[in-house]
Amino acid sequence: MGLNKEVIIIGGGVIGLACAHYLIDKGANVRIIEKYEIGAGASHGNCGLLCFSDVIPLCSSGTVSHEIVRTLKGTSPLYIKPRLDYKLLVWLLKFASKCNADNMTQAAMGKYELLNYSASLFDTLMALNTVNCDFEKKGLLAVFKDKKNFEKYQATNEFLATYNMGARRIDKKELRQLEPALRNDIAGAWLNENDWHLKPNILMASWRKYLSGKGLIIEEHCKVLDFEINGNTIIKVNTIKGSFNADSFVLATGAWAPQTLQQLKLDLPVQPGKGYSITMERPGICLTYPCSLYEKSMVATPWKTGYRLGGTMEFSGYDDSLNPKRLSKLISGASAFLREPLGHPVMEQWTSLRPMTYDDLPIIDRAPFQENLIVATGHGMLGLTMSTGTGKLVCDMIYGKTPEINITPFSISRFR
Ligand SMILES: Cc1cc2nc3c(=O)[nH]c(=O)nc-3n(C[C@H](O)[C@H](O)[C@H](O)COP(=O)(O)OP(=O)(O)OC[C@H]3O[C@@H](n4cnc5c(N)ncnc54)[C@H](O)[C@@H]3O)c2cc1C
Repeated sequence: MGLNKEVIIIGGGVIGLACAHYLIDKGANVRIIEKYEIGAGASHGNCGLLCFSDVIPLCSSGTVSHEIVRTLKGTSPLYIKPRLDYKLLVWLLKFASKCNADNMTQAAMGKYELLNYSASLFDTLMALNTVNCDFEKKGLLAVFKDKKNFEKYQATNEFLATYNMGARRIDKKELRQLEPALRNDIAGAWLNENDWHLKPNILMASWRKYLSGKGLIIEEHCKVLDFEINGNTIIKVNTIKGSFNADSFVLATGAWAPQTLQQLKLDLPVQPGKGYSITMERPGICLTYPCSLYEKSMVATPWKTGYRLGGTMEFSGYDDSLNPKRLSKLISGASAFLREPLGHPVMEQWTSLRPMTYDDLPIIDRAPFQENLIVATGHGMLGLTMSTGTGKLVCDMIYGKTPEINITPFSISRFR
């Protein structure tokens, strides 16, 4: 097969850029078509964690009951806007049915392979020094306010250790030395050195520049409207700026994938999971480590060039408005853990939609009825982390190369 294949990627998020990276490396001519601008979706203001240790799926045993209790107490980061939405209801029921130990172990294996694969590809990418993004290999501190929760994490850690992804227990006294920006009333923390972090918006800008230099063509403000199909092959995409032909197409439209796939009658269970972040200058007493603040299910990430609070999970459809109440939850959450929770000035308040699947595994597969279309979406809370692995798998599929990891867990047929 000739190396100079023509590929169109629909969606200019981190998944789209990662696919472009490996395809260009292989010699393909690549064009990204993006509705707004590169990085306009979830890939811009996320928490920037490369959380390779996060092998446990969201749908693990006890998740549903735990969230119901927290929702009743008003302490849950989860919000479901009350409305009649049949697809969301089915999605939530399927999610609940997956919350058991068997499924957790099975999904964890799939996640682990892709996370591990992505870690080694990130390592290579960062070593090239061609993409700069405030990248650091410091680890991630899971911080606990409550002693019982801190102790209970031991069991989770034992599970992670079976995947070689275990963390180190940091008791209160050591924690004061290690991370003085935390408040004194913290019970303890677990430091996972398998995790790294970077600044996502800088990554997107820098990766775009690097790939443009390598010949990537970018069409921005160019919404894809529909496809022109001949038999089981896509011939071209029609956009608001005209039509574009290619040999292969990659659909990387994140949370918006169901809308883009409507014409193809491919009904994928991807729900938009809304999250928020606030980006600031570094506070005077700033964290050294990125921290997940356990009881608040949120993250505080420090970089050399700034600081971000992020989290919350809201199922409210495609509404992308900034809800001040949800933003203030981030501030109150951080105040419970950090000596100086806020930096000044605030640079950005942001929201976007994560592409959530009910089994917490991404979808990386050929479309069932259009053989030259690859779907790459559904990365949920780990799209940045899993981007390199996804990009390489998509590239190998297009070039007919056997994937280097088992891709069965990411198949479309699992939903049938
Ligand atoms: C608050 C928050 C914190 C997060 N923290 C982390 C983290 O620390 N680590 C991590 O790994 N992940 C994190 N995530 C998740 C991560 O951001 C997403 O999984 C990832 O960005 C998804 O990437 P994507 O490329 O699939 O989608 P997106 O980045 O959303 O890109 C999809 C693109 O497709 C475009 N598009 C849509 N429809 C069309 C169309 N018809 N035509 C053309 N273009 C179209 C959109 O405009 C968009 O730019 C977080 C998410 C949130 C919200």
